Amino acid sequence: MLERGEVANSWRGERWDSLRLLTPNWQSRLPGYPYRGTDPDGFMTMPEVIAHISGFAAASAAPVRTHTTVTRLWRSDSGYCVATDAGEIECRSVVLANGAANVPVVPELRQALPASIDSVTAFDYHSPERLPSGGVLVVGASATGVQLADEIQRSGRQVILSVGEHVRLPRRYRGRDVLWWMEHSGVWSQRYDEIDDLERARRLPSPQLVGTPERGTLDLNRLRGAGVEIVGRLAAVRDGRALFSGGLANMFALADLKMERLLDTFDAWAGTGAPDVPVGPSERFEPTRAPTSPRLSMDLRSGEIRSVVWATGFRPDYRWLDIPVLNHKGALRHDGGVVSEAPGLYAIGLPVLRRRKSTFIVGAEDDARDVVAHLACYLAKVGG
Ligand SMILES: Cc1cc2nc3c(=O)[nH]c(=O)nc-3n(C[C@H](O)[C@H](O)[C@H](O)COP(=O)(O)OP(=O)(O)OC[C@H]3O[C@@H](n4cnc5c(N)ncnc54)[C@H](O)[C@@H]3O)c2cc1C
Repeated sequence: MLERGEVANSWRGERWDSLRLLTPNWQSRLPGYPYRGTDPDGFMTMPEVIAHISGFAAASAAPVRTHTTVTRLWRSDSGYCVATDAGEIECRSVVLANGAANVPVVPELRQALPASIDSVTAFDYHSPERLPSGGVLVVGASATGVQLADEIQRSGRQVILSVGEHVRLPRRYRGRDVLWWMEHSGVWSQRYDEIDDLERARRLPSPQLVGTPERGTLDLNRLRGAGVEIVGRLAAVRDGRALFSGGLANMFALADLKMERLLDTFDAWAGTGAPDVPVGPSERFEPTRAPTSPRLSMDLRSGEIRSVVWATGFRPDYRWLDIPVLNHKGALRHDGGVVSEAPGLYAIGLPVLRRRKSTFIVGAEDDARDVVAHLACYLAKVGG
């Protein structure tokens, strides 16, 4: 196992200071390594995540070579050749486990921002205090965007949150964490080959969720109540003005509808008597309130905002992959983690790789079992 930094590298250097997991502690189990602490319903801070993953690495005696960066991977006569900053390795098979979120995705229109505006991504952002004083435009309202908008607004700065397509979820439903429902109802284990529109499922934004000791919901109604101004999707930056899409009411109605459909699925499952613990009565939540006349443009030179925080997603970095297995959008072509165009090449940890939970910590075990089973057959066939 080659790791360019330390074990749990992404949790050490690529996350903001206050971040906690949005998955509850009991759900941070790794193969043969459950959460053993005293707060199963709590949410880990970054030092706790690092300790948990490092503990797993030690317990499993994983042969990790830290501080070894892969700089190129290509096919060789016997399989694959891996160039690293510590020498070359020949191997029959390779599993790409470099993560789904190596680099922030930032729209091109970042280039058009006036020079007076500071621009940071979720990778550069640490805390509100390190932003210049003044208003902040947060672009993107998925897990990262809503969490950052909330903490920046609480710090006393005015936040304007630009909202595109998003996934709304309550933190708790019928007395249980919503991720308890996702896991136990089987929604999270739905297999990739059972999903009608897999491409779309793989592009779905992360849910609007936060892990806090209060276990509260962090949706757009909560943010508006806290004073955050909601605007539409950032469509363009022209002549120093930011232009936002209209149609917020429709977008909110769609997100509410999708949430209700998911809650219907949970209710149907609960109706079969399947839950082995008591659950509360069915609930429905207030629709997302759309602002009556959200503004459609903003003068970025007026001094109203001093910084833009891009919470517009992440993607893997494959610059070192010298095998033509990426599509025109730079995504890996694979079937459940098996890269058929390059026998012996596998991937893990990508969105809905084999199940809806594939990019979550709890998703690693089932996916790894399947991918490794295929890999073992391959090696047996080629005589690895
Ligand atoms: C902001 C944020 C919050 C998240 N919150 C949660 C959460 O609450 N709960 C949850 O379950 N999941 C969460 N996730 C998803 C989380 O990233 C995954 O659950 C988990 O980290 C996936 O593990 P991984 O090993 O596949 O990828 P990563 O953790 O990204 O690990 C990939 C590793 O590969 C290394 N690497 C990359 N390129 C190279 C190279 N060229 N050479 C050598 N090494 C390399 C990296 O240094 C890194 O250590 C979150 C993700 C983000 C971005």
